[in-house]
Amino acid sequence: MDAALRSHALAAKGFMPPDEGDALYDAAIAAARAVPGAPYLEVGSYCGRSTVWLGAAARAAGTVVFAVDHHHGSAENQAGWEHHDPTLVDPRTGRMDTLPLFRATIDDAGLEHEVIAVVGRSPAVARHWRTPLALLFIDGGHGEEPARADYLGWTPHVAVGGSLAIHDVFPDPADGGRPPYEEIFRPALESGRFRLRSATGSLRVLQRVD
Ligand code: SAH
Ligand code: MG
Repeated sequence: MDAALRSHALAAKGFMPPDEGDALYDAAIAAARAVPGAPYLEVGSYCGRSTVWLGAAARAAGTVVFAVDHHHGSAENQAGWEHHDPTLVDPRTGRMDTLPLFRATIDDAGLEHEVIAVVGRSPAVARHWRTPLALLFIDGGHGEEPARADYLGWTPHVAVGGSLAIHDVFPDPADGGRPPYEEIFRPALESGRFRLRSATGSLRVLQRVD
C-alpha cells in the first residue's frame, strides 16, 4: 500500500487497528480482481479511518468506495457510553457530528475522487441500492437491530465472487459485543452463500460463493 496514504489512515481518528486495516486493504484489492469494475461500499465510516484504507485500495484497483454513515454516531458512541468522544459533539445541536472530520480526513489524504460519502441511515440507503459490490465492509451500529438490518439490507448486494468484510467479530463474548458475530458473521456462513477466507484480529473476510 502507498506509504503516504497509509500514514494518513494511521493519523485518522477511529477504531481500525493497523493490521486489520492492512488486511482490509488486501481484501479490497483481491475483491476488485474477482469482480472487475464493481465498487466497494462501507457501512460505518465515522471519521474516515477505515475509509482511507479502502480509498487507497480503490485508487490502486481503479474503482471507488461509497462510504455510508449518518454521521450522528452509533448508540455506543453517545455520551455516557464507552466509545464517546466529546470533541465530536456539535455545540449547535448537542448531537454528535463526525461529517466535518470525515471530510477533513478524506481531503487530507487526497482521496476525494475515490471516496463518495453517502450521508444517511444505512437501511434507507440499502433499500434503494441496486449496484453489485466487489466488497462490502460492515462496521456500522453494533447493536442487535442495526447489525441484523445491515446483514439483511446489504449482503444481497455483494456480487458472486466478491467479498464481505465484517469488523468487531468476537466469537468469545469475553472479548466484546456479540451482534456482529451473531447477526452478521454467523448468518452469512450459515446461509451457504459465503465462505470464510481470512481472520485478522476482529476482522473477518468472507467470499460470496453462491
Ligand atoms: N469504520 C470506522 C468506525 C465506525 S464506528 C473506523 O475505522 O474508525 C460506527 C459508525 O457507524 C458511526 O460513525 C455511526 O454513525 C455509524 N452508524 C451506526 N448506525 C448507523 C446507521 N443505522 N446508519 C448509518 N450509519 C450508522
Ligand atoms: Mg469497528
